[in-house]
Amino acid sequence: MSNEVETVIRAPQGYALARKAVQAMEQHKVWPTPLNFELWLHYVGARNGPLALEIDRLLAAGEAFTETLSERLAERYLPKAKLNGEIREAGDALAHELDSVSRAIESARESSEAYGQQLARASQSFDGEDGGAIKTMVESLATATRRVQRENRSLETRLADTTAEVGRLREHLELVRRDSMTDGLTNLANRKAFDESLERACAEAEAAGATLTLAVIDIDHFKSFNDTWGHQTGDQVIRYVASVIGRAARPPRIAARYGGEEFALIFPGEDAAAALSTLEEVREEISSRVLKRRSTNEDLGAVTISAGLAEWSAGETSATLMERADEALYESKRGGRNRTSAAPRASRAAA
Ligand code: GH3
Ligand code: MG
Ligand code: MG
Repeated sequence: MSNEVETVIRAPQGYALARKAVQAMEQHKVWPTPLNFELWLHYVGARNGPLALEIDRLLAAGEAFTETLSERLAERYLPKAKLNGEIREAGDALAHELDSVSRAIESARESSEAYGQQLARASQSFDGEDGGAIKTMVESLATATRRVQRENRSLETRLADTTAEVGRLREHLELVRRDSMTDGLTNLANRKAFDESLERACAEAEAAGATLTLAVIDIDHFKSFNDTWGHQTGDQVIRYVASVIGRAARPPRIAARYGGEEFALIFPGEDAAAALSTLEEVREEISSRVLKRRSTNEDLGAVTISAGLAEWSAGETSATLMERADEALYESKRGGRNRTSAAPRASRAAA
């Protein structure tokens, strides 16, 4: 399915499709983020595809196209299909290479067996002390030897080619893997990588009996910032905020952009108090900087963030930890924004 859509997009009618996608987004009041554009391009490009049918269903049900919904759609219909395709291709190429190598090895083995048999026959004919037989023996030895040498050379070349090809495939797979885990705008971990990291961090804390704190961060009044300064300048601000958060995320901490203007920080081995002091530094650094628009040098004022954090408690799932951190974030929003709140400790029974 995803291939089908890709071909349509690259075809000459691509510009017409792009216009149609924008019209459809306008008609359904969908904010033109790059992600939404991609989704709606697929929507108009393959009207009977699974993504389009799902969007039709959601439209019919009167659903609002929120960021969360777009991300859910993208997660379900976009990257996985692409990634699976790439992995399948790489896997096929690898299988093909290994198949040719094993065929080359098999053929070399058969040649050397033939060589052995020739030698055996030759030594028998040597017994008769017949001049003609010796001549035949030497000739067949020479032929067999040349063949084995030829086969060996070809085997060596095949092995070198295969080694290089496997190396290329491995690099490609690594790139695809990294790409599928990275947010394109900020280079932080993306939602998928974040979900996996949080899951792993909880399991590791459980196994080691260690502490772990999760923070979620959201830019304040970002919709009105976008409305005033435009989406592109908004993107620059997202990158700026991400860079401050990223700098605070020295390993083993993990920083992620898990939604439009929403970020998360995982603090393995740190309790709520330690995480709080780091978050406060991040928050103060962001709010104290007066931002300027690069192109015009206009003053954009300062941007602020709100944060919520929750310390993991033994037996708690990543989902409830996330819920509690989110709840603390809303506490910060309700309390006036530009602040950090910590969730109350989870009781074991609640976890
Ligand atoms: P609050 O303080 O309550 O968080 O207010 P808010 O306006 O930030 O609230 P909300 O989360 O509802 O709005 C987020 C806005 O962020 C919606 C959208 O305009 C903007 N946004 C989301 N993703 C992107 C993006 O990738 N780039 C840009 N420029 N803006 C984005
Ligand atoms: Mg938000
Ligand atoms: Mg916000």
